[in-house]
Amino acid sequence: MTNFHCIICHDSASPTEVIDHIKGDASGTLTAVRCRACGHIQLNPPEYSLDFYEENGQVNNVLRMYGTPMNVLVEHSWIEARRRVQRFAQHGIALRRDDRPLRVLDIGGGYGFFGAELMRAVPGIDVTVVEPSSSRVEMGKGYLKDAGDGTPVPEFLVEIVDEDFAARHAGAFDIVTLWHVLEHLTDPVDLLRNTARLIREDGVICVEVPNVDDDLQALSPSFRERSFMAEHISYFSRHTLENVARRAGDFRHVGVHGYQRYGIFNYFHWIHFNKPQGANPDLFEGTDRWWLETTWRAAREAAVTSDALFMIMKR
Ligand SMILES: [Zn+2]
Repeated sequence: MTNFHCIICHDSASPTEVIDHIKGDASGTLTAVRCRACGHIQLNPPEYSLDFYEENGQVNNVLRMYGTPMNVLVEHSWIEARRRVQRFAQHGIALRRDDRPLRVLDIGGGYGFFGAELMRAVPGIDVTVVEPSSSRVEMGKGYLKDAGDGTPVPEFLVEIVDEDFAARHAGAFDIVTLWHVLEHLTDPVDLLRNTARLIREDGVICVEVPNVDDDLQALSPSFRERSFMAEHISYFSRHTLENVARRAGDFRHVGVHGYQRYGIFNYFHWIHFNKPQGANPDLFEGTDRWWLETTWRAAREAAVTSDALFMIMKR
């Protein structure tokens, strides 16, 4: 095994192997391993290519591997953006202030769909998207334009969030969001540390990542195999995600909750056929089986065996 170094606790004792085949690994050398000291699961070696994102590599992989057409990806992205906006009310996080408009920063915000939905939901809110890939930002501006007249466009910054960025924007934001960003980075603690500097004294950081404790991993071998991919360096559980937050600073509150993204038909499809549902996986946007979907989601989220984790951090 390649020399191991835990990206969270920096331990270098020989880790345990989790899986030896990583989807999209051109080199054939990547494995996923669990740190013996802190329990964190990560790729070994932990590689990160900014070029990959500049070339929109992750989206291209989805198009190629699942045959999902771009229009479906865009449609799903809008659904997810609306649900992300709703999340704040579900967790009692205010999106309005009496004295001035709220300032929100979406880190790694890609095409800007979440930012646009937030602006649509809360008129007057000040939303900035910071995204390292200039090509994604350009594509995003195109999608927002295509979405029709009156679709708000957030302010885009093509930058990475490092110490310099944190110094320039220290204490500038009420809410900072990281939707499916942390799992892509070689130093998630460092990013959260810089993110903590960006929020005001009463600010909030919201993080969503895939959940390695999704029970589908045990129920569908094919799902498990596809859960480990070259783009995802970290595979968080409730415990290890909380650990990352604790290492990033002294927070008054850190809460990790289960969150279910995909619908029950997608879940049953994986279990029954042991393969992906295809080009248009179920996210559940209907009203016909709300009672089933609601009960099922609540149970998964309470047990934290859902497909995602949602973390709230307060200074
Ligand atoms: Zn570790």
